Amino acid sequence: MAQLLYIETVGCQMNMLDSEMVVASLRRQGWEITPDIEQADTILFNTCSVRAHAEDKIYSALGKLRLWKEEHPEKVIGVLGCMAQKDQQQIFRRAPFVDLIVGPGQLQQVPELIEQARKGARQLVAVSRDRKDGSLAQIKRSHETFDPLRDPTMRPSPFQAYLRIQIGCDKFCTYCVVPMTRGPEQGRPADEIIEEAQLLADQGCLEITLLGQTVNSYHYQQGDEDWRLADLLEKLHEIEGIRRIKFVTSYPRDMDRRLLQTVHDLPKCSSYLHVPLQSGSDAVLTRMRRGYSVDDYRQMIGRISEILPEAAVASDFIVGFCGETEDEFQLTIDALREFRFKNSFIFKYSEREGTRAMDQLADDVPYDVKQRRNNLLLEIQNEISEQENQRFVGRTMDVLVEGRSKKSLKQGDQGPVFQLVGRTNCDRIVVFDGTERQVGQVLPVKVQDVTHHTLLGSIITEHAGPELYLLGSS
Ligand code: SAM
Ligand code: SF4
Repeated sequence: MAQLLYIETVGCQMNMLDSEMVVASLRRQGWEITPDIEQADTILFNTCSVRAHAEDKIYSALGKLRLWKEEHPEKVIGVLGCMAQKDQQQIFRRAPFVDLIVGPGQLQQVPELIEQARKGARQLVAVSRDRKDGSLAQIKRSHETFDPLRDPTMRPSPFQAYLRIQIGCDKFCTYCVVPMTRGPEQGRPADEIIEEAQLLADQGCLEITLLGQTVNSYHYQQGDEDWRLADLLEKLHEIEGIRRIKFVTSYPRDMDRRLLQTVHDLPKCSSYLHVPLQSGSDAVLTRMRRGYSVDDYRQMIGRISEILPEAAVASDFIVGFCGETEDEFQLTIDALREFRFKNSFIFKYSEREGTRAMDQLADDVPYDVKQRRNNLLLEIQNEISEQENQRFVGRTMDVLVEGRSKKSLKQGDQGPVFQLVGRTNCDRIVVFDGTERQVGQVLPVKVQDVTHHTLLGSIITEHAGPELYLLGSS
């Protein structure tokens, strides 16, 4: 009988992609996935350490497995990902019954380590080198990925896939643990990326999302050729079957005219740009060591409006960062109102071990102040999102149908009708009625109503032909 794997993933798209790779490598060895933790032979947590809350959740989930492991000592528990890299042996101190700890740069070892644990080995550790532990080449090598393994069943939908083009980060924002957990910034070889995109297209994938911590800073030197993100987009655009290409997350300073022009010129490129501002105060941006001012960001927004006027821009913000005053927070509100993002991900600052902010700055904004600022910013963002969405009422948009929404099935004149959910080229969520066989198609949907989060519409059945809609609307 096949061995059963239960895997839980928290955190960003990188982690979702890492889990896909781990599952693909285990399936090759005959493992099957179970949604039932009790039935599993091996339980893996793919973890995040960007904020303390994400780690607390994992330690609490591990705590609940203590008795289970006592009753089933032959079963294996593993902690993978950023928390594994950051906490290493500390995890054994808090949860000594954990069998494996594997950092994000060592995931290719997971099948072998599970085998060893099943044979009785305990407390196995595979982590990458620390940023100061060896030459740059050695450190980079110890953060390699094993991306070409792909498993369609682990994707957000069978038609959409993530594709990593960049590993690690060298920006060292003072609050952020990622440069330590994911190692130095490295562009993956362009030919590997193109090959992998072709494989995804062959597997029926329509939309690929290119991933990198500062994805628009991508570069790779191949012989005499210096590959940039714009070059990659041009090549990926030629792949038959791929109909939409997105990339996240972008870094403001590297959002140059050539990249924007490329996105404009290539109809398969999504006009969704996720470029976190983090704060509207120059003083806070300096303390965060983000490497740009609000005015630099304003100029970038100017370039976007000029070259890609239909683009939807999204941001991240951290509220309550070290020393953030009411006046500084007010500047963030002003920036939010000025830039009118499609949506924003808002986080309360969470002090992280190993970061410069933890060593040099006091985490002195009280929790209730962080909470109030978070709520206020979210409220303003929701108002803006709804106002921006209003512009689409009456318009017909191309929607890649992702699947059923959470709402249930209805009986229509011609058989069952589902509420379907999909996304526009500019990443807006659209909900509409349809049938199961429309899932995976790009269809024209006329928007009738909106909320701050969603466009509500109906499929246009009589139209000039799908290609017309494929190229035009945002
Ligand atoms: N590389 C991306 C960038 O620079 O925009 C983002 C990576 S990070 C995993 C995602 C978001 O988490 C960041 O944009 C930031 O807003 C937030 N974040 C990172 N460290 C944080 C911390 N210590 N506390 C709260 N939020 C944090
Ligand atoms: Fe973290 Fe800054 Fe790198 Fe983004 S750019 S991953 S926030 S260090």
